[in-house]
Amino acid sequence: MLSIEEYIARRKKEDRLNEFDIDARSQNLKICVDYVFEYFNNYLNTTEAEERTVLHSEKLDKYRKQLQDYEPEVREWAVSIYDEYGKQVHRYIGNILRENELFFLYNTDSEFRSISYDCYTKLIKKLPFLKDQTEMLFLFIKDYHRVQSQKHFEFGVPTITEEISDWINKTWAKHQVNLLAFAYDVVLTDHDVISGIPELMRVAKILGIESMPGVEFACKQWDAYFHILGFDFDIDNPELNEFVERLCEYRNNHTRALFEAGLKRGTLSGITWEEVVELNPGCRWFCNDQVRTAMVAKGLVRREEWGAVSKANFKSEYALSVPMEMASVEEAVYNIRNAGGIAVLAHPAGQYEYVDRLVEIGIQGLEVSHPSLSREEEIALRQKAKLNKLYMTGGTDHTGPMGGCMGAHAVPAYHGALEDDYLAIKNRIFS
Ligand SMILES: [Zn+2]
Repeated sequence: MLSIEEYIARRKKEDRLNEFDIDARSQNLKICVDYVFEYFNNYLNTTEAEERTVLHSEKLDKYRKQLQDYEPEVREWAVSIYDEYGKQVHRYIGNILRENELFFLYNTDSEFRSISYDCYTKLIKKLPFLKDQTEMLFLFIKDYHRVQSQKHFEFGVPTITEEISDWINKTWAKHQVNLLAFAYDVVLTDHDVISGIPELMRVAKILGIESMPGVEFACKQWDAYFHILGFDFDIDNPELNEFVERLCEYRNNHTRALFEAGLKRGTLSGITWEEVVELNPGCRWFCNDQVRTAMVAKGLVRREEWGAVSKANFKSEYALSVPMEMASVEEAVYNIRNAGGIAVLAHPAGQYEYVDRLVEIGIQGLEVSHPSLSREEEIALRQKAKLNKLYMTGGTDHTGPMGGCMGAHAVPAYHGALEDDYLAIKNRIFS
């Protein structure tokens, strides 16, 4: 836009006006005054309005481009709201949907319909002009689910294990549910090893989700057995690494003793311990799962037959009578906390009575969501945690596609912790 001096200069040039012509003085004075009138009354008004329109439609185009992956009908609906009210409605809807942990597992119209009513009641408080727009909101939410789910495939399916990649692909093909969109804030809690954590962090980064170091220790205290979880510690802490190494050795010695007893008794055959180690490349911790992997790889047993073999060798009365060396809860808690982590009692089924004493030792949290806990136990543990300001966690443990325990309780999606619980630990809200 021109300034007034520029405008007069331009008009003067157009009219070939010579202000030094004395004879034309009064006429020139009138022309110059007209320029000023023209500038303020016409030029300024029209260009401003024109520019406003251009800017506005540029803005709308930009927004339309932002929503380019959406179906035309819902996209134009959102653009028209932006046009009329200046609000980018997809942001408001996204923020509300984010509160629903299970949204990315939805795939039926009735699920989308139900969440759209829920969303409507919240949305209408912020954007009252959306009154009576429930049908468009439903369509938008359904399409939002599709667009956001697809977005998580942008970099392909990351290689975690072949089974998991296969599971992700099949679930998408069958249900249009992308498990990568559902996943967030992942923690790996291997038994007595932390060597998988860098790999977890690498994959989490590819997926664009948060991750946290974790571990699980088998401990003995007051003649009872406890599993103690550690979260968010320094994986390079030397004392913790020594402790991990020691517990790993306890477990391996025990598994090997049972394995060799099986060979001796003839309940296992055709394989040596060296082969078990060799057929689990990179593995440093061995329980009956690793024996199974090796025997399946050697063709000695089929995966589905393993239950009986495992029972005879690793869960028999004899097996239970072979003691395993174990650390105390005190040692586990010390090492986790010493490395800056949070110590949590894992799957406390039937262990409610110990909670107070374990808290005295230094336990800071309870695993309240786990396939082995009854509904009543879960409620009691959650109350206890709230009352004592303990962290609440959840885990899939040995279930789902990664674990050995498939079947009725292999529903990993329902045994994780909520994002708030994850953030509570991350932000150390109690200490
Ligand atoms: Zn456990």
